Amino acid sequence: MIEFPSADSTRLDSYVDRYAARTHGMTASEIRALFAVASRPEVVSLAGGMPNISGLPLDVVGSAISNLLQAKGEVALQYGSGQGDPVLREQICAVMRLEGIEAHPDDLVVTVGSQQAVDLVTRIFCDPGDVVLCEAPSYVGALGVFKAFQCEVVHVAMDAHGLVPEHLREAIAAVKAAGKRIKFLYTIPNFHNPAGVTLSAARRAEVLDIARAEDILILEDNPYGLLGFDSDPLPALRAHEAEGVIYLGSFSKTFSPGMRVGWALAPHAVREKLVLAQEAATLCPPSFSQMAISTYLHQHDWQGQIKQMREMYRERRDAMMTALADFMPASCSWNRPEGGFFVWLTLPPGIDGKAMLPRAVTARVAYVPGTAFFADGFGSNAIRLSFCYPPPERIREGVRRLAGVLEAEMELRTTFGATSLSSHRARSEYDAPSTDLS
Ligand code: PMP
Repeated sequence: MIEFPSADSTRLDSYVDRYAARTHGMTASEIRALFAVASRPEVVSLAGGMPNISGLPLDVVGSAISNLLQAKGEVALQYGSGQGDPVLREQICAVMRLEGIEAHPDDLVVTVGSQQAVDLVTRIFCDPGDVVLCEAPSYVGALGVFKAFQCEVVHVAMDAHGLVPEHLREAIAAVKAAGKRIKFLYTIPNFHNPAGVTLSAARRAEVLDIARAEDILILEDNPYGLLGFDSDPLPALRAHEAEGVIYLGSFSKTFSPGMRVGWALAPHAVREKLVLAQEAATLCPPSFSQMAISTYLHQHDWQGQIKQMREMYRERRDAMMTALADFMPASCSWNRPEGGFFVWLTLPPGIDGKAMLPRAVTARVAYVPGTAFFADGFGSNAIRLSFCYPPPERIREGVRRLAGVLEAEMELRTTFGATSLSSHRARSEYDAPSTDLS
């Protein structure tokens, strides 16, 4: 018989013993923990990856929603198909065509953001101990899912051109030699979160060749693909290979994250299992959000809207690049992202991004420590800076403050040596819960 905790027992402890073993890996991410402080107005947050939706035409969205309710209110406010709205699925096929993907709406499953698609794919493929290959670093939200399903994450190195094929081959060989099962390669080929890099065209072909030769499924996560600053998107991995790739997309970055609509495009044989998993999790993805997006796509120049977003984000990227060049110590290095939201900054030797964070927050600037993006504790010498949200002058001010913190950190190191740095740590104030895990 289950004993429920009495009113005067320590509730936390009595529940801890009841949790399923798979919840042990569910711990608050570093982004979650710092966001409450980072969102204070005096702090320049270069931390969260919230899309900047200030340019969305709310009047257009409002009239699309009102038209929807008038024309199809009773459908939009009702349960819908577990696979997702058929009209929206047709429209998603048109969106994916921009990245060279030819797909049938039958092979699409609409999800609650692409985050749920990562969850569903992991749910249907992974048993505890199964290996998921991920770039080093990788998206913190996906790492959270892999942890929750007790997968073993094996990181594969990237460079300026994305995932390094030789390292992928080596990682596959090592995992196989250890007798473990690789369930898929999780990759973000475009404007990577957090690394900011894009997988080159030549590397795409190589990665696909390796996956085919080794019979490894690819989970291609592509929420930022249409947000390139300088050129049209490269063809997706799924554009070259229909059977071995599950492709994930999202309306969060190109329209609204609040709608919570993403999708998975899967090989036909996998699609059915995904729909069953979706029905078990939610019955159906939200009808209202799907139909609102569908009406917006139908009534608005959404491609023109995305073009405006690209320009807005490019201006912010440029502001960050200029500020980094103007203020950062010479011993730092960073990349110049060609799209998306993020810059990966490598710190001067010996500086620990996680240990430095409380001092940065005290200096009113926030970022995400690199360790958040590794399953294995690496990344302490790097941080993620996002340029998507603050206006250009705030980005410049944030980088200026960060450079000041870094200079002080390097000074401390010179004066006291590495070990005494920890005793100079300011008290961490940032453990309130938050909602931004992006
Ligand atoms: N994948 C990546 C790489 C992301 O950066 C994000 C959100 N930041 C997601 C998936 C999830 O996005 P959503 O659920 O809003 O579609």
